[in-house]
Amino acid sequence: MVATRTAVVVVGAGPAGLTVANLLRRAGISCVLLEAESRAFIEQRPRAGFIEEWAVRGLEQRGLGEQLVAKAPQHEKFEFRFAGQRHAFRYGDVTGQRHFVYPQQLLVTDLVAQYTDGGGEAVFEVSDVRLHDLTSDSPAVTFTTADGEHRIDCDFIAGCDGARGVTQGYLPPESTVKSHHDYGIGWLALLAEAPPSADGVLFGIHPRGFAAHMARTPTVTRFYLQTAEGETEADWPDERVWRELHARLTVPDGEIIEGRLFEKRILDMHNYVVEPMAHGRLFLAGESAHLVAPIAAKGMNLALHDAFLLAEAFQAHYEGDSSRLAGYSDACLPLVWQYQEFSQWLSDIFHNTAATGENPFAARIAEARMRRLLGSPAAAAAFAELYIGKNADL
Ligand SMILES: Cc1cc2nc3c(=O)[nH]c(=O)nc-3n(C[C@H](O)[C@H](O)[C@H](O)COP(=O)(O)OP(=O)(O)OC[C@H]3O[C@@H](n4cnc5c(N)ncnc54)[C@H](O)[C@@H]3O)c2cc1C
Repeated sequence: MVATRTAVVVVGAGPAGLTVANLLRRAGISCVLLEAESRAFIEQRPRAGFIEEWAVRGLEQRGLGEQLVAKAPQHEKFEFRFAGQRHAFRYGDVTGQRHFVYPQQLLVTDLVAQYTDGGGEAVFEVSDVRLHDLTSDSPAVTFTTADGEHRIDCDFIAGCDGARGVTQGYLPPESTVKSHHDYGIGWLALLAEAPPSADGVLFGIHPRGFAAHMARTPTVTRFYLQTAEGETEADWPDERVWRELHARLTVPDGEIIEGRLFEKRILDMHNYVVEPMAHGRLFLAGESAHLVAPIAAKGMNLALHDAFLLAEAFQAHYEGDSSRLAGYSDACLPLVWQYQEFSQWLSDIFHNTAATGENPFAARIAEARMRRLLGSPAAAAAFAELYIGKNADL
């Protein structure tokens, strides 16, 4: 067993872990970043794309957003396709803020490079990660690599290992509340080798079910299709995918452009939040602490919010003020719950019009919400602020 010591062990090199690790390194606080996958794998893993302006500015102000700001196209409107009509929704006009469209793997690639080029210590392809002595002053992390077994003694552990990681499992059940919500549907997440069919996001609100179109790059477009509970990728051959995308998204003068599908993955639509997001010397950030289904594109934004707060709390601790660490979970959770609430509210609009047959009441409520959103400037302004995350931390 090789034993070393550092100030903070960061478990997981997603957006949350990489941001924490970069900010610690810049503050001169020693840390080691542990990642289960290879560097090449995480630099190619496609997931999120829409980053809210406050999060982009947060990265930029901390010296981590240069490539993103230089390269990412900006979006300030989307289109509802509802009842056979197009309804442009210009949230940028109302809020003065926009989304930056930057595939998550590019952000991860930038953050890994900044961390390692700056001398940051990262260990990839670790397995059997275990945490020890979390309520002592000197916790430890043990793990295995191809070279053998390792132990790192430290002051703190940042659990940033996402929804399938191990660190959440170290929160004691007797003092942790895990709230869970299951939407009872799936989304088929698709990536197509096709140019965008429109210059922004399209949300198809349709009795056959929800569908969405999101430009990613000039040659790649993401699509989503609402699926019934229990359906698998095998239930969705390409021909059915395109038939449903055309049916749910096409309007006059608004055709959908087809292309080779190179990702087809059912997402189980559910949310959870664990509270508090800390135990002893372990602090969770990002999806290890809270998952929000990608209905409103909020997950990575929340992961960055946690990461900013956690890195600053660690820094304050080493400067003699531990109150920020003590208040870390309470500082994160208001935005987490605002985004959970918004995603749930939006889900009712997106998904319930498909309930026409089995639940006409829910379908009519969803249609009433749509009409209010499209007809009332005040309702539209409130929606726009939450959609882009302006003043959302209430
Ligand atoms: C299809 C899709 C589209 C999305 N679109 C958006 C969007 O547009 N906007 C948005 O804000 N969000 C979006 N999201 C959500 C976003 O991708 C996540 O919220 C984000 O990745 C969370 O970041 P994270 O750092 O918390 O976790 P992750 O990105 O999951 O990173 C966790 C890391 O920990 C590693 N790991 C796991 N277990 C261990 C272990 N035991 N030891 C060491 N390392 C471990 C993992 O390999 C991973 O690299 C989308 C998600 C999906 C699936």
